[in-house]
Amino acid sequence: MFEKILIANRGEIALRIQRACREMGIKTVAVHSEADAEAKYVKLADESVCIGPAPSTLSYLNIPAIISAAEVTDSAAIHPGYGFLAENADFAERVEKSGFVFIGPRPETIRLMGDKVNAKNAMREAKVPCVPGSDGALPESPEEIKEIVRAIGYPVIIKASGGGGGRGMRVVHTEAALSNAVIMTRNEAQAAFGNPMLYAEKFMENPRHIEFQVLVDEHKNAIYLGERDCSVQRRNQKIIEEAPAPDLHPRTRDKIGSRCADACRRIGYRGVGTFEFLYENKEYYFIEMNTRLQVEHPITEAVTGIDLVQQQIRVAAGEKLSIRQKDVVPKGHAIECRINAEDPYNLIPSAGRITRYHAPGGPGIRVDSHVYHNYTVPPHYDSLIGKVIAFGDNRDKAIARMRIALSEMVVEGINTNIPLHLDLLHDGAFLRGGATIHYLEQLLAQHKKQG
Ligand code: ADP
Repeated sequence: MFEKILIANRGEIALRIQRACREMGIKTVAVHSEADAEAKYVKLADESVCIGPAPSTLSYLNIPAIISAAEVTDSAAIHPGYGFLAENADFAERVEKSGFVFIGPRPETIRLMGDKVNAKNAMREAKVPCVPGSDGALPESPEEIKEIVRAIGYPVIIKASGGGGGRGMRVVHTEAALSNAVIMTRNEAQAAFGNPMLYAEKFMENPRHIEFQVLVDEHKNAIYLGERDCSVQRRNQKIIEEAPAPDLHPRTRDKIGSRCADACRRIGYRGVGTFEFLYENKEYYFIEMNTRLQVEHPITEAVTGIDLVQQQIRVAAGEKLSIRQKDVVPKGHAIECRINAEDPYNLIPSAGRITRYHAPGGPGIRVDSHVYHNYTVPPHYDSLIGKVIAFGDNRDKAIARMRIALSEMVVEGINTNIPLHLDLLHDGAFLRGGATIHYLEQLLAQHKKQG
């Protein structure tokens, strides 16, 4: 096992990884920007290294500074967390070339799955059903593109093969709008991702977002740990996630899950990963794979009893998986609410000092957060300040516990989206379960109309 791990991230996930390491007796190195120098989790680490000024391009994305920090602290491995460099194949390569272990898949795998056209081709070969669309990248000729899209049928979504974070996609409803949309998306894709390659997919009008968690070792042992429903989204970003997905037949779970595990063996996957699907009319369609730990991993931990971060570290160290597929028996129901420092209705980020803080507790409640009384939320990063996870024997119990937890929680001095969560936890459609990815946007539009 590694003696020391450098955590190349910040905030709640840096603390989460640190806790996993401490439990395993592994020393930790926190790297941080100048803006995060005073954070308590930085002080809790065995060592800390400042890697640059506040802007993330100069710190958390500063590859040479992170590699140097690993060298001076004599770290054995680097955990990238999520976001920042977690899905950057060049970073993974630099880490390994510099003699450290990258806690994640091999660079080639990250590169393969990060290119969405390649990823879909790899999935088709593994017999994982994909959203119907162009076979591979769109050609240059507008006439050929028209023909391809006609065969798919309108509406379609034009997507950048190198896209991510909800950017680089455009919905097209008519042939008249097609050529323009292709030109605009191609230009954006070139500018934002340095890759002009596009593909087209059927635009699904009422899908749910359901994703499958996998865990794979170096020795081609691959298991799936059930699914999560992440349909409560705004601007293509998840707000509430739950496991298991409401109304999912166990046979469907096993069928899709085992295909994901098969796909991992075929592509030589290693580590934790997530296969994202859109689900409509009882059919699953693959959209993309995330080759890293997800924000919402704790709900899977709650229902399976498996510590995903510790497993991720173990397989990165070359250990054989000690869990077999038949040992994975999800129990109960878990819900996660992402607590963001932002206005709950207009989404304007809210940085500043937390003047009063009280975290909830009680049976079945887990809070993953790096903030505390008098902590200052810096304006430079993502607005996520923590996650509340509620577990119960069934969905109703998990919801009841979440309502109590969020009604007890106090965060003063900044705005948070807790009021929006409390609204949703009393909303009829959410309570019935199975709302689509467009539901929250519709609800907020209604809220706006009513002033
Ligand atoms: P990113 O990598 O940018 O997150 P994804 O391919 O995962 O992009 O898509 C993000 C979100 O966009 C999905 O969760 C879904 O809400 C929406 N979306 C993507 N593809 C489609 C599609 N074919 N039809 C309808 N919505 C889609």
